[in-house]
Amino acid sequence: MADEELLFLPLGGAGEIGMNMNLYGYGRPGDVTWIMVDMGITFGDGTHPGVDVILPDPEYIEAHKDHLAGIVLTHAHEDHLGAVPYLWDRFRVPIYATPFTVSVLQRKLAQDGLLDEVPIVEIPLNGGFELGPFRLDLITMTHSIPEPNSIAITTDLGTVLHTGDWKLDPDPVVGASYDMPALTRLGDKGVLAIVCDSTNVFTKGTSGSEGDIYDNLVKTIAECEGRVVVTCFASNVARLDTISRAAKDCGREVVLAGRSLGRMVDSARENGYLQDAPKFLAEEYFGDIPKDKVLVISTGSQGEPRAALSRIAADDHPRIYLSDGDTVIFSSRQIPGNETSIGRLQNRLVRRGIRVVTDRDRPIHVSGHPARDEMVEMYQAVKPRIAIPVHGEMRHLMEHARLARDCDVQETVVVENGAMVRIAPGPAGVVEQVPNGRLALEGGRVVPLDGSLVRERARALFNGHAVITIVIDKDGDLADDPLLTTTGLLETGEVDYEDGVLDAAEDAIEHLSKKDRRDDDVVSEAVRIAVRRYFRQTFGKNAITTVHLVRI
Ligand SMILES: [Zn+2]
Ligand SMILES: [Zn+2]
Repeated sequence: MADEELLFLPLGGAGEIGMNMNLYGYGRPGDVTWIMVDMGITFGDGTHPGVDVILPDPEYIEAHKDHLAGIVLTHAHEDHLGAVPYLWDRFRVPIYATPFTVSVLQRKLAQDGLLDEVPIVEIPLNGGFELGPFRLDLITMTHSIPEPNSIAITTDLGTVLHTGDWKLDPDPVVGASYDMPALTRLGDKGVLAIVCDSTNVFTKGTSGSEGDIYDNLVKTIAECEGRVVVTCFASNVARLDTISRAAKDCGREVVLAGRSLGRMVDSARENGYLQDAPKFLAEEYFGDIPKDKVLVISTGSQGEPRAALSRIAADDHPRIYLSDGDTVIFSSRQIPGNETSIGRLQNRLVRRGIRVVTDRDRPIHVSGHPARDEMVEMYQAVKPRIAIPVHGEMRHLMEHARLARDCDVQETVVVENGAMVRIAPGPAGVVEQVPNGRLALEGGRVVPLDGSLVRERARALFNGHAVITIVIDKDGDLADDPLLTTTGLLETGEVDYEDGVLDAAEDAIEHLSKKDRRDDDVVSEAVRIAVRRYFRQTFGKNAITTVHLVRI
């Protein structure tokens, strides 16, 4: 009989930044017990029109759900837990997380009416627990949200350190510092493999400390005479703390704009964070505060059209307004893919005489992911035999593998979603390619991203849509003029083209034999091909063409 194996299978987040979903398996071939680490989403970048939220397709593990022992969440970022409300139902197994993450997750589940359904097990910081053949020990790290955890996953075949998202921040402002002694102890005991964050592998040096931002923010805010808006990620609780203290020191009261900020502050306070931060005021108070005494913290740093900042910029926010001489400070970075929407937002602001300050002007943002020096420090502490880079695009993963080899790691395995890696017994390598893909959240339901709905919408958007209605009698002769409706093909008043389409449709019917004209399918298809050909030959567009045939 075959011996036990230790497996790693990413279904999301390997070969991309976003929608993390990692599986670890242990057992004999055909009898493997799995655990899932993280269940995240990614945001649409406009490639698929109308699709805002994209999820990993868990098809493989769904087929093995009876062998899934549980889901562990490393931290509360959307790319690590955002898919729980949409995918958990397919597994219905317990979810394990630390208190702040639990609190954020519960608020999310409550919005979807799932709060009482999902069994959540709260694990204390630095806590340990067992799931089937796995022993899991959490190690507190630093990142850009409270309670980021690395997980030491131990089996009879060795220990894997799943780092989650991390950096080495000596002054994280909120929460504990990273637990380097625990990492070193783990390294001294022996680590078989590390599965590690690759986001900033191209950044030299260190990522900088959250604690360094305060002075720069105070300087920036002190220069402002009018109203000030600072935008950042709602989940960056340390940044909320820093901004609010900087505001207070500049004699300004803090107003929160955006519901997600309110929810995040509630989750933070529930867990003992933000205890010393000044009071946050609700949007209603904005109008009562003199303009040189107010600072608004707002969501929408990526130019998201529905977020508070976009509405403020468009002068379309119910309570918060800006005018000539006011300032908007972006305490955030541009996530790749969002440059256009951020540019549009900033143009809209400066056009109205509002000053825009970004991290290009002053160091008012630090990344939550490790730069190269921090990654080297991690490798020196943990001393893994195998490195499997994740949380990066292919170029990040490859560069991370090079860095790992420079740190004397013996084996590196670069894989993308769907590649099942056998970590032990070694040497490590891909043993199987499993089905993987992406799903889209669409109108409250989950559909395949490469399915007919999303594909046809994109086709209709890029090529237009024509609907033609034909009324024929039992012999197949036209009983009335055909009717044409188009979307995105003709400019209003282009009657000649409309006539051209209708002539093409009529011609197609006339060229059919008497026998064929009695067959609805043959008539419809002939008209469809004729109309489609007309649009292709006239405009070079492969219009989606629908024929409605009515026989009287
Ligand atoms: Zn992440
Ligand atoms: Zn994160």
